[in-house]
Amino acid sequence: MSATPRSRYDWTRDDLADLLSDQPRYRVDQVWQGLYDHGTEPEDWSNVPKALRASVAEHLPPALRPAAESVSDDGETVKWLWTLADGHQVETVLMHYPDRTTVCVSSQAGCAMACGFCATGQAGFDRHLTTGEIVEQVVAARRRSAEAGKRLSNVVFMGMGEPFANYDRTWEAVHRIHDDLGLGARHLTLSTVGVVPGIRRLTEAALPVNLAVSVHLANALERDVLVPINKRYPLAVLAEACAAYVDATHRRLSFEWALIDGVNDTDRHARELADYARPLRAHVNLIPLNPTPGYAVRGTPPARVRAFAELLGDLGINATVRRTRGTDIDAACGQLRATHGEPGPTPVADPARR
Ligand code: SAH
Repeated sequence: MSATPRSRYDWTRDDLADLLSDQPRYRVDQVWQGLYDHGTEPEDWSNVPKALRASVAEHLPPALRPAAESVSDDGETVKWLWTLADGHQVETVLMHYPDRTTVCVSSQAGCAMACGFCATGQAGFDRHLTTGEIVEQVVAARRRSAEAGKRLSNVVFMGMGEPFANYDRTWEAVHRIHDDLGLGARHLTLSTVGVVPGIRRLTEAALPVNLAVSVHLANALERDVLVPINKRYPLAVLAEACAAYVDATHRRLSFEWALIDGVNDTDRHARELADYARPLRAHVNLIPLNPTPGYAVRGTPPARVRAFAELLGDLGINATVRRTRGTDIDAACGQLRATHGEPGPTPVADPARR
């Protein structure tokens, strides 16, 4: 278990067995099933005696208290703002697509990477999330999906925070999501701004999850400014780590590229990206920049996005333009910041305080 259990999903099965040491072992299994197979509240576990349900509810309260919920794209996108036990806030975004349902989870409250175009980076770092706080986001999203008659199929670690700055807890969460919630490793994606030690560790890891790297610029001079961690893990070192990852795992690497008007969307930028991506056979996801309060430059206009994608194609690079979700509720890439101006999301009743 992580040092401070903040969530009921921080408890391992053995921790739970210790906690319920006065109970027969099969009760521990039932509680575990309630948490992971059903992902419901203890009050709903009809196979468990009432007193035990009450005790679990009391000792293991939910860590995520819904502070606000916003819906967009005709109900296909849902964003939650959660308040954690210590008052910090994080966000989770659920997205239904025709062929899949994906939840985008936060790995930290805030982020220390300070990318100027990202709302989370603009707001700064609060703290790491625990394993349980990450897993609980997935469980909440899975429950909501089920209510909508859909099965949660994918998890992307592309919410608030830098997963590889919180590697151990994140990796434990990946295991819990895979081993206990039953999602396939190929349906899980970790996204990093380029924290090289994390890529190296992932290269050695047993579960074949997907890796996405947020590149955004492929020359040192400009990337140092836009993505400050580049000074610590420069592009050449990043490429080396990516190459080792691809060689060792034979998995397809993705690059994220937020297209920013005049900043990284010229033909020269496309050529630099192509030269960087080609030896790694990386697939490029182009995301027209979403607006954030602290960054004045706008996203690349649609015609330029198309031209950039076409040029990449001509240069032999596989590129797709990502459709933006939830921009109107600040739920799109880079817009998560756990504070809200007007018009704000609708506050919801907190079931834990009923
Ligand atoms: N720290 C990790 C996880 C965050 S993922 C990472 O950087 O990969 C969030 C993704 O959205 C990243 O690719 C990030 O670069 C991108 N992003 C950040 N701000 C954005 C914005 N304003 N518009 C579009 N994409 C943005």
